[in-house]
Amino acid sequence: MGLEAYRRKRDFSRTAEPRGDDVSSPSDEPRFVIQEHDASTHHYDLRLEVAGVLKSWAIPKGPSTDTREKRLALPTEDHPLEYADFEGVIPEGEYGAGTVLLWDAGSYRNLKEDDDGKSVPVEDQLSDGHATVWLEGEKLRGGYALTRVATGEDERWLFVKMDDEEADARRNPVSTEPESVKTGRTLEEVAEEESDG
Ligand code: MN
Repeated sequence: MGLEAYRRKRDFSRTAEPRGDDVSSPSDEPRFVIQEHDASTHHYDLRLEVAGVLKSWAIPKGPSTDTREKRLALPTEDHPLEYADFEGVIPEGEYGAGTVLLWDAGSYRNLKEDDDGKSVPVEDQLSDGHATVWLEGEKLRGGYALTRVATGEDERWLFVKMDDEEADARRNPVSTEPESVKTGRTLEEVAEEESDG
């Protein structure tokens, strides 16, 4: 837990990624972001603000708005809250080298209640291996479920759209809405404009 793994993997004299020293208080509403990451393997990083850090998963195929699509989500190290604003190029030779584009951002709320109607903290839901949240993003909205399907060395989760009014099997925002929600740029534009030299 915490940011030790995050910091150990990175050389902050080389990468423009945040160190995460800002001990800013958590947001009023917890945030979520999805960052498209054109690293050695192209993927989308889902990050949920939980207990002062961004809990993170790499989704190789990206999120779907179709309830039938079960998207594999591989857990990665906790990231600092400031990472939610990061867009740019991680230099060659550094961990995660490649272009990062802020593909979606917004707030989320917890959907899970206990038998007494009390909200179950997302932290506890994740420990239990099943969490349901309502996303309020620019591209993704509605309920999503995260379910752990394998533990240990090969821990794996599935990220699946829940069946609600925001479910839409015809939308495919990963391919039809590729631009950054922060800057409107495409991945190629971020790569060109943020590269050294
Ligand atoms: Mn990544």
